[in-house]
Amino acid sequence: MKPVLHVEVVQKKQSNVLQTTLHNYVLAGMEARKILSPGTTLTNLSNELLSDHVESIHICEYNNEGELLSLNVEDLELRIHIFKLDDEGVQLECIDSGDGDGHEVSAAQHWVLPSRDFNGLWENLIYESNIKENLLQYMETTLLFSDRNVSPHVITWNRVILLHGPPGTGKTSLCKALAHKLAIRLSKRYSCGQLLEVNSHSLFSKWFSESGKLVMRMFSKVKDLVENPNALVIVLIDEVESLTHSRSSSGGVEPSDAIRTVNAVLTQIDELKKYPNVLIMATSNVTDAIDLAFVDRADIKQYIGPPPVKGIYKILSSCVAELSKANIITPKEEIHTFDGIVQVQAKNGEDVPAFKNSLQLLDISRQCEGLNGRTLRKLPYLAHALYVQKPAATLEEFLAALQKVVIQHKSEMSEL
Ligand code: ADP
Repeated sequence: MKPVLHVEVVQKKQSNVLQTTLHNYVLAGMEARKILSPGTTLTNLSNELLSDHVESIHICEYNNEGELLSLNVEDLELRIHIFKLDDEGVQLECIDSGDGDGHEVSAAQHWVLPSRDFNGLWENLIYESNIKENLLQYMETTLLFSDRNVSPHVITWNRVILLHGPPGTGKTSLCKALAHKLAIRLSKRYSCGQLLEVNSHSLFSKWFSESGKLVMRMFSKVKDLVENPNALVIVLIDEVESLTHSRSSSGGVEPSDAIRTVNAVLTQIDELKKYPNVLIMATSNVTDAIDLAFVDRADIKQYIGPPPVKGIYKILSSCVAELSKANIITPKEEIHTFDGIVQVQAKNGEDVPAFKNSLQLLDISRQCEGLNGRTLRKLPYLAHALYVQKPAATLEEFLAALQKVVIQHKSEMSEL
């Protein structure tokens, strides 16, 4: 069995060429290339049909661990996914607040998938080992089993995953990226994807006894979507602890009301699980405080922590690449891969000028160990604002600024 490499093709909005025609052209184009570089996106397409109908072709990452730079087409099974991106962006789902005056509360954010808002998000989330691929694989199996009516009494699986870990580690983003990827990978089976991000806080009415009704109204919106068997519906419950927390300490409200609300959410989740085309993703910044009743419903409880040095190096390299693209770092200089530069260091290649900048970035990455992804992605901005302060800088100048910001950040953290 040949290993699978996914190729994602974004078809232009106005293009109406048949997907099978496009598929054959892309396949021929890939085979003609012979060698493919995982993790790259092709935008300037020379073939006329492709350039008329295709926005971009993304050759997916092959394996997070081994940084494979090139693969021979003959050794692979190519899985080509052709889709159009939704440009509508986020829509607010409002429900009656129940205050009697007809006021509405925004209970969820709604995207049609695959959405332009999430294009490229998956590739820019960097984790240790194969967390992303494993989660995607798990979700695909779940949907396949559900779709083929595999009996849950024989093989147990649920339709709930829980990502937990410290704030800023990309849990919410990962859920959205997963939903987007699933909609792409399963586009042959589901004609459209819907992502609903439930605002847990808004499900608690200040007229607390109304909360149970808010939950019901919210989930009846979800059910409307789920009724269409060709729609893949993903419900994201962010910061699920805010729901479950209220069951124990209900902040001055009648505890029984809080318990009723949370029970209403749990019951609704159980009801949704009857539908084969729905998945529930939840995130939490605290693991211990989550209600056991919820934790028990989750099949996969994945801890998401801050990235390791290799991940940090990749995140910072991607920031350097983005600033080079914008000509803020100029001239453009090559940043070596993590594995490559670690080998250089092991062989005492420090004196070779071509490796100097990458080695400094490696050094900075080591100093950043323990910082979360959100902070890491902010550091280059701070470096520019505080220490570069001009429209364009050399990579050397930029890295010196980044180094200063890291030192400053660490000293501020130690004072807290
Ligand atoms: P959480 O839900 O864990 O609080 P978010 O999904 O809100 O985190 O993450 C905020 C931002 O931080 C993301 O949009 C992303 O840019 C960045 N980020 C966090 N973790 C990572 C990571 N491992 N790799 C790349 N970027 C990350």
